[in-house]
Amino acid sequence: MSSESDNTTKYLIQSLMWRQCVSEDNLKRLVTKCKRGEEAATEASNELVAEVVTRVNRQMRAYNISVSRGPNESDGTIYYALINTADNDITRMANSWSQKELLYFRKLMAAIIENKNSCIASTKMLNIGREDDIKFSLPVSETLTNKWVEQKWFEDVSDGKIAIGIRTLLEMSVYIRERFEVQDCFRCKILCIRGLNCMSCDTKLHYHCSDVQFIPDNKCPNCAKQFASTTTQNTNQSDSDSVANDSTQGVNGSAHNHRIDDSTDEETVEDLNEAIVGDSDEEPIQRRRSGRSKRSRLS
Ligand SMILES: [Zn+2]
Ligand SMILES: [Zn+2]
Repeated sequence: MSSESDNTTKYLIQSLMWRQCVSEDNLKRLVTKCKRGEEAATEASNELVAEVVTRVNRQMRAYNISVSRGPNESDGTIYYALINTADNDITRMANSWSQKELLYFRKLMAAIIENKNSCIASTKMLNIGREDDIKFSLPVSETLTNKWVEQKWFEDVSDGKIAIGIRTLLEMSVYIRERFEVQDCFRCKILCIRGLNCMSCDTKLHYHCSDVQFIPDNKCPNCAKQFASTTTQNTNQSDSDSVANDSTQGVNGSAHNHRIDDSTDEETVEDLNEAIVGDSDEEPIQRRRSGRSKRSRLS
């Protein structure tokens, strides 16, 4: 390996360790910065980025660390993060988080993943921190959850709605698959928490994977029946037409439109009410259409 490629690999490892989670554009910029001579004038190609990532993986294999790649579920932006391949369990965060913080994080993950829209109101997020087994004060919960959003463990998707963040998707996918009944996106085969469900079968697609090229005429790519409700195909619909079930949201709208739908659907009101009155009497969440209940183990 030349000293230039050696330096690029080192620089990328250090950058990923420092920044924790890097978008594809930023990763490209980092690789471009390492180029020397005439090459430095042009942006690093996708091939060069892939080559550097392969080198990082080769060097880090002995330490059970590898580069994980996946899309942010709001807009499909690709991110990269260094993950521990030997220990994907959340308890490894115990080095930097207290036991109560771990419990709070687990409970938030469960609340979001088991919610039918795969997001919860930020007020509900804070209320979970006040539950008996955690008992954080409001300012403590607020500081902690703001930090988790900033670090991309969670994502503020719109109007105080909180979803699973890209860092959790990249670093905790094994944990999520083990503990929750989740699916992969039918198109990109990557774990999909937030997306659209077919009305007739179990097929799920990320919002950014459900474009008109992939599901022409709104036909499910798996069962060929109607994929999403046609009444909500028009993304300019009024708020009163919005529905809570994300499987009936418009198929081909932009991620931005999906986020607007999220913020105006009935779930917002329900979540806010739950946050105010508490959610201890919440009914068990049923899996969409199939009626099978989701399982979660918080231990
Ligand atoms: Zn996908
Ligand atoms: Zn289908």
